[in-house]
Amino acid sequence: MLAGVASLLTDHPAGVGGIAVHPLPLASPDDAVPRGTFVLVDEVATWLRDADRVVVLTGAGMSTASGIPDYRGPQGVWTRDPAAERRSSIDVWLTEPDTRRDIWRERLAGAGLRPRPNAAHVALAELERLGRLDTLVTQNTDGLHQDAGNDPDRVVEIHGTNRFVHCLDCGDRHPMPAVLERVADGDDDPHCTRCGGLLKAATVSFGQPLDPARLQRAHDAAVGCEVFLALGTSLAVHPVALLPRTALEAGARLVVANAEPTPYDRVADAVLADDLVEVVPALVERVRATSAG
Ligand SMILES: [Zn+2]
Repeated sequence: MLAGVASLLTDHPAGVGGIAVHPLPLASPDDAVPRGTFVLVDEVATWLRDADRVVVLTGAGMSTASGIPDYRGPQGVWTRDPAAERRSSIDVWLTEPDTRRDIWRERLAGAGLRPRPNAAHVALAELERLGRLDTLVTQNTDGLHQDAGNDPDRVVEIHGTNRFVHCLDCGDRHPMPAVLERVADGDDDPHCTRCGGLLKAATVSFGQPLDPARLQRAHDAAVGCEVFLALGTSLAVHPVALLPRTALEAGARLVVANAEPTPYDRVADAVLADDLVEVVPALVERVRATSAG
């Protein structure tokens, strides 16, 4: 195991850009390396520019600047209100009509506040236009990568999408706004018009399996990449948390940027500053500038 980490240590004995790489595959978050290593951006940009395959993984931290709160961060939805976490369980959705009504009502109320991609999303779309992005794996369900201009075919939504609603029985699928219109018209616990089954946002709730095809695609992308960029994710939730390890074992460079320490900080080739709306555009701009001519 971890042959890739061993070879990485051999290839980069002193770490890169002054950051030591320690032979601890999954160190405690308490051992996190210092943040704010903005000086590494130039170096990381050359890795992105020179790699044939770059894979990016994004988590909730990617969208906080778009006004979407994360779940487990210091100001996260579940940190502030632990009871809210249970509402993300499939059992609750299946068995508590009152909770479903509450959630539909809240969605309807928030429907007008459509979040917009932030500068980090926009920069990742530019990275794709530069031909430097192979696959974008996201834990987010907000659809903002596609809104920013990333090709939907390159985006692997590992936890599904809240842009669509599907029937839990027959799989019939509709855009979220169409179902919210029904809620607005008084259908406060909407069911499938085709089979009468229960409708639910097309996201993966606790207690539901991840889609094996999406998971496989993410795994294959990690195996085949030369640079793996993990942005705004705590890398604490399995199986997504295994993807950087898979990439490392396959010999890729790992770059991490997250507000909180991650278990990978000490084996990453670079830990970037955590302000994604600053650091991601800066990174992509350097890729663009050094690719031209
Ligand atoms: Zn149905």
